[in-house]
Amino acid sequence: MARQIWIDEEICISCGMCINNLPDVFRYNNAGKAECFDENGAPEEEIQRDAIDACPVSCIHWQE
Ligand code: SF4
Repeated sequence: MARQIWIDEEICISCGMCINNLPDVFRYNNAGKAECFDENGAPEEEIQRDAIDACPVSCIHWQE
């Protein structure tokens, strides 16, 4: 089972990087911030590389 993703909305600057890189995993919520709607939308390695490591403000985290 995929690990859960947690995004700190207070820090997200809505740059769209994670959403553009992984549109099957991330989307904008009603507040215009990123949210994860499907942790199974991409392999964990891609989520790590293209979202967690790519986020300019490092606000995407694995939730153990
Ligand atoms: S990459 Fe980070 S700052 Fe940009 S939209 Fe995604 S969570 Fe927000």
